Amino acid sequence: MKSARRGNSVCSRRASSWSARAASARRCSFISPRQVSGRSASPTPTGSIVGALKVDSARDALASINPGVRVETHPLRLGPENAEALIGGYGLVADGSDNFDTRYLLTDLCFRLKKPLVAAALSPFEGQISTFKPYLGAGHPCYRCLFRDPPPPDLVPRCETAGILGAVAGVLGTLQAVETLKELLQLGESLDGTLLLYDALRARFHSIRIAKDPECPTCGRP
Ligand SMILES: [Zn+2]
Repeated sequence: MKSARRGNSVCSRRASSWSARAASARRCSFISPRQVSGRSASPTPTGSIVGALKVDSARDALASINPGVRVETHPLRLGPENAEALIGGYGLVADGSDNFDTRYLLTDLCFRLKKPLVAAALSPFEGQISTFKPYLGAGHPCYRCLFRDPPPPDLVPRCETAGILGAVAGVLGTLQAVETLKELLQLGESLDGTLLLYDALRARFHSIRIAKDPECPTCGRP
């Protein structure tokens, strides 16, 4: 709240500045082939409708809050054959995917296209989130700097079999929305270079620094 100490006029200028940037962010796209399931439905402002496409549920929730935002929905799986066409026209990518193929695909593509990537992941009672901007160079790691390769397929249970506490997904989804807005509006401190971890059972947050790996196959030295 540095600006508050300097007086209301500064606050007003700051507010009008980021409000103007917020007003310019009027286009977003949701990509998922999945339907909302009763087991893993996270809370949304309008309530999720079990059985509805997730992209339609997200579009309706956003429209109820701000009908001025143009929303595109893509009820399909993101893959190497369509990823660049789907995300190429946007300024930022928020990854909430439930599989490592998509996570590593977006890691590599966002680095190549120089797009910030706000990535959140879940286990049944825990979550983690970070922002990756490795195209900025030294001091800016990517997801592969942290986890170079995907784990073996049978090592990490998938969300639909592990069972995710829906409210934990809600916490991480809300954090991801905050970090996405901060990046778009250039507010506060970025999670670039920091992994924020949430342990729901212990009711703890903690963060760790992520070092850039000079040998990283994505963002390391060529
Ligand atoms: Zn890297």
